Amino acid sequence: MIDLRSDTVTRPTSAMRAAMMAAEVGDDVFGEDPTVNALEERIARLFGHEAGMFCPSGTMANQIAVNIHTRPGDEVICDEGAHIYRYEGGGTMVNSGCSVKFVPSDRGRFTAERVQEAINDDQQWLTRTRLVNFENTCNRGGGAVWDIAEVDRIKAICKTNGLALHMDGARIFNAMAATGESPADWGARCDTISICLSKGLGAPVGSVLIGSKELMRQARRVRKRLGGGMRQAGLLAAACHYALDHHVDRLKDDHRRAALLEAKLLTLPYVSSVMPVRTNIVIFTLANKQAAEPFLAKLNHRGVRAVAFGPSMVRMVLHLDVDDKDISHVITQLTDLQ
Ligand SMILES: *Cc1c(COP(=O)(O)O)cnc(C)c1O
Repeated sequence: MIDLRSDTVTRPTSAMRAAMMAAEVGDDVFGEDPTVNALEERIARLFGHEAGMFCPSGTMANQIAVNIHTRPGDEVICDEGAHIYRYEGGGTMVNSGCSVKFVPSDRGRFTAERVQEAINDDQQWLTRTRLVNFENTCNRGGGAVWDIAEVDRIKAICKTNGLALHMDGARIFNAMAATGESPADWGARCDTISICLSKGLGAPVGSVLIGSKELMRQARRVRKRLGGGMRQAGLLAAACHYALDHHVDRLKDDHRRAALLEAKLLTLPYVSSVMPVRTNIVIFTLANKQAAEPFLAKLNHRGVRAVAFGPSMVRMVLHLDVDDKDISHVITQLTDLQ
């Protein structure tokens, strides 16, 4: 089976498992796990932030970020496809008591003008706007990458209006592999960033939230409250270190393979459109409103797994466990499906 459902399906390599077995550990709730501490410091320093906090999932890292930036009754500006709204079990509304205001976007990327328009005036009867959340890369946008100059303009508006700016950087390493920007470029523009090590980077578990010392002090209490205070988590953090050492440079191979898929899909009569591919996500729409589920069942029968992303939409994601031979096989199967 070639599993293209998500870049979360990767399994730790034997070298990564060896690194995990060798990890020095301690009780992380006491702040005594050296491997976790080193990971938090490493990622914070990489992005030019003061502090970091290891989390069991990207969802928790995002939820904690929303929580420390807001009070119940506040409003978060984001795109309607945002992970914090759509894929976190209603957490933004339940954990933080916040409403969300959607801004129109181009595949997840919105402009500073749209943010400005979405900010409520300071009136007792209006919801207090408090946070802007953007995703890089944009999952529902087919792995679309942000223009950093637009983020600069958004940051300026946040500053003027006293809003915090959070980047859901679950796939920020994919974005940087595509643009050549550095972690410090992104760190300088955001108050907090969540970074996933268990997507394209291939660690089994783990995300890190970064920000100021004071924000991360508050974040630790929220993490504990949510049940995310882990103990000898160095076993997991060791895998994340390994991923940063060995799996960053290879992301461009995933992007190259995604582009191969895109090129093939564009030639197939049963595909009506493909979102322009820039990173490791490929989203396409089937022609004539063909339903995604029966198509996926046929594909599954041929040894390829993908997910539905709408009634006629399909998503395929490239990752560590898919090589050139696998992609050739997928392309053959897609061709034979005609
Ligand atoms: C995967 C993902 C997350 C985090 O998901 P978890 O499965 O909770 O780690 C956050 N944001 C985006 C955009 C994602 O794709």
